[in-house]
Amino acid sequence: MDELTAEQLAQLKAALLATQASLEEQLQGNKSASEAVTLDQTLVGRVSRMDAMQQQQMAISTRAQAEQHLQQIRLALAAMASGDYGFCRRCDEAIGFARLQARPETPLCIACQNRLDQQ
Ligand SMILES: [Zn+2]
Repeated sequence: MDELTAEQLAQLKAALLATQASLEEQLQGNKSASEAVTLDQTLVGRVSRMDAMQQQQMAISTRAQAEQHLQQIRLALAAMASGDYGFCRRCDEAIGFARLQARPETPLCIACQNRLDQQ
């Protein structure tokens, strides 16, 4: 597979930056949402309180996923800056533009990803 062109890199970088911005926004919004749930717990009955706790639990796991996603994006942007972007972190093969378009933050080629998923 060929290395990425400057144009392809620019396109992927724009996608990474856009996703990074929306994740950061989501994480900020989420934080105040889970704080609101904590406050509500003193005001509502037992059943609603369990609902609220469940919602808070979901908010926490969504938040953890967003944080993990954000971390991958930061690593991808760092790799872009150092010229390592687009190569698999495991086997060092080119990841390929089509896969990067679908998941610009991925650090693995499709072969390594499949191997990981099967473990
Ligand atoms: Zn690989």
